[in-house]
Amino acid sequence: MDSSGAPADRAFAHQLMETLAIPIFVLDTTSRVILWNRACERLTGVPARDIIGTREHWRSFFEERRPTLADLLLEERAGDAQHPRIGLPDDPHLSAESWCDMPRMGRRRYLATDASPIYDERGRLAAVVETLRDMTDEKLAQIALEQLATRDGLTGLANRRCFDETLHAEWARALRQRQPLSLLMVDVDNFKAYNDANGHLGGDECLKRIATAVASEMRANDLVARYGGEEFAVILPNQSLKGAASVAERIRTRVEQLQVPNRLAPAQHVTVSIGAATAIASPDNGASELVAIADAALYRAKHMGRNRISLPLSELA
Ligand code: GH3
Ligand code: MG
Ligand code: MG
Repeated sequence: MDSSGAPADRAFAHQLMETLAIPIFVLDTTSRVILWNRACERLTGVPARDIIGTREHWRSFFEERRPTLADLLLEERAGDAQHPRIGLPDDPHLSAESWCDMPRMGRRRYLATDASPIYDERGRLAAVVETLRDMTDEKLAQIALEQLATRDGLTGLANRRCFDETLHAEWARALRQRQPLSLLMVDVDNFKAYNDANGHLGGDECLKRIATAVASEMRANDLVARYGGEEFAVILPNQSLKGAASVAERIRTRVEQLQVPNRLAPAQHVTVSIGAATAIASPDNGASELVAIADAALYRAKHMGRNRISLPLSELA
């Protein structure tokens, strides 16, 4: 390289960026695309000839108009185009990660992006370069791992661990906001006999259908989990005992209406018993007491003949 000749330097730098395996594009200070390298063409499916000289780079990433990170940095550093930055005390670099629509490719990608300003020799902003990394595979692997860690394999509901964590988080929130917190314990009636009559796989199918039925009664902030074997737990934030009782009755009815037949006793459909508990959280009681009260209520529902809901006498305060 000829270190004294600026045009040769520039041509070399340009060629270097063009051939980098990392996708990059460069905007001038008026947001016009002045470089769109080959890796960026491959990532976006948009050829450089379609985009150089335009301000349409956002279309390569989003369905609807949105600023790219490079645009945000340009906006933030707009003053640097006129007023030289001397000494560069802070790092004006921006980083972000997000899902992008990638309209031309027709498949969403999870991109990690970095935008950095380029200053001329007099300290004035000359351009902004955005570097992109396709992190889709890593992100999908992370989501799959999170699913494995928090979901029950058979039913797809939250697993016991997720239930425990959510219950403690909701308890803390109920305590802060002085709101009631309700819990339902839902247990399939005579499921051992159902398994004996229909086989373990038949039992599994039945559990999946019940899980879907219970989940269909939930609101956005509720959580339904597989608590264990043939038992489900439902966390109802900000729900009074009366409200919890009505959710419980809806769940009970819905399962009955599934009319899941028992092979040995076709007239007897699968049913559930439900115990409810509600607490006004206070520092003197804990989430485990809520579980114990709902469990005791479930036990009473079983003893009263099954296919019913049971409530404690009052809210735990
Ligand atoms: P109750 O009405 O008192 O609840 O009686 P039950 O028979 O439902 O209760 P019990 O605790 O005696 O039996 C639960 C049965 O659930 C026994 C177990 O084999 C079955 N079970 C637990 N987990 C699974 C599972 O993942 N799949 C299948 N198919 N069965 C399961
Ligand atoms: Mg049971
Ligand atoms: Mg049980």
